[in-house]
Amino acid sequence: MRTVPRLQPFATTIFAEMSALAVEHDAINLGQGFPDTDGPASMLAAAQQAIADGQNQYPPGIGVPALRAAVARHQHDLYDLAYDPDTEVLVTVGATEAIAGAIVGLVDAGREVVMIEPYYDAYAATVAMAGGIRRTVPLVPDGDGFRVDRERLAEAFAVKPAVALVNSPHNPTGTVLADDDLAEIARLCVEHDVIAVTDEVYEHLLFDGRRHRPLATFPGMRERTLRISSAAKTFNVTGWKVGWVSGPADLVAAARTAKQYMSYVGSGPFQPAVARALDTELDWVSESAKQLGAQRDLLSSALADAGFAVHRSEATYFVCADPRPLGITDGIEFCRELPARVGVAGVPVAVFTDDREPWQHLVRFSFAKRPEVIEQAADRLRKA
Ligand SMILES: *Cc1c(COP(=O)(O)O)cnc(C)c1O
Repeated sequence: MRTVPRLQPFATTIFAEMSALAVEHDAINLGQGFPDTDGPASMLAAAQQAIADGQNQYPPGIGVPALRAAVARHQHDLYDLAYDPDTEVLVTVGATEAIAGAIVGLVDAGREVVMIEPYYDAYAATVAMAGGIRRTVPLVPDGDGFRVDRERLAEAFAVKPAVALVNSPHNPTGTVLADDDLAEIARLCVEHDVIAVTDEVYEHLLFDGRRHRPLATFPGMRERTLRISSAAKTFNVTGWKVGWVSGPADLVAAARTAKQYMSYVGSGPFQPAVARALDTELDWVSESAKQLGAQRDLLSSALADAGFAVHRSEATYFVCADPRPLGITDGIEFCRELPARVGVAGVPVAVFTDDREPWQHLVRFSFAKRPEVIEQAADRLRKA
């Protein structure tokens, strides 16, 4: 193994393994979280037009002006958060590069990064690349949902971390962090002078009338929060890799400093298309979220019929199911068998944790698939 030790734990991803099993057994792949339908037609046409019009060279390092303006306008309209599009908004190669730029630009080697567990897999790898130390704060069951373990949260902030990396709506659980959990995170960030980096890529995909509340809108947080979002999940374009950060100029500058030597720039012709979509296609997004909510219902009830204990999914692409009522306690083993046995693939939540024990059983399924695909998966699960 030539890979440096700090990156060796990240050599293979669970998604590659489960997707290979899904192909081998002709299973419906509810493991990976990407949609199987296209985004708004006007946005797709705008990208084609941008290519036809010759927007095929390096865009400006901080992103095309139209997209930065649209990102700023969007947050002002939705959340009353005002950002200067020239100094407080930065376009990145997806939320993934935004996270990497933020962590590498803001976390010195040996400093701690607090993150909620289970965590999005890129967080752990990115912190390792920066030479930082991750410190996890678990979610704990709360009825059929989850909330933040407050005791562990206080302990994590007591070590004076450089950054708290906060993901809500939360992947993999589909939890929207409760207002009082967000308020407590905000209070601790202010008290301990910690920068918040917030991953809000699912900000538009909440169900049942829930509304997203950015951490930056809590008292004292606008000046210490770097907000991350992306077109990927909002507009069904996970392959376009158009993301952005917004925050006070000094935090954006830190992310920009790192980002400009990662990719420099990316996604040139897609940037004006996403700008257009942010300005004109929010109705499409609401409709898409409504449809996703219906798909969540369908998949959740099929899982319940099959004998799983199903957690409440309030947002995102995902629902978590507990197979212990079926006599199954090891979610990793179970996920390895599921494609062959049932013809459906999921991913074990334990792989997104440091302390696996409380998560050992849990399985994440994605409902970001066409209704007929969910129906077919539901049939297979019910027969299992
Ligand atoms: C999908 C996802 C991302 C990555 O977004 P890109 O814009 O495709 O890079 C980041 N964070 C979370 C929580 C995600 O689910």
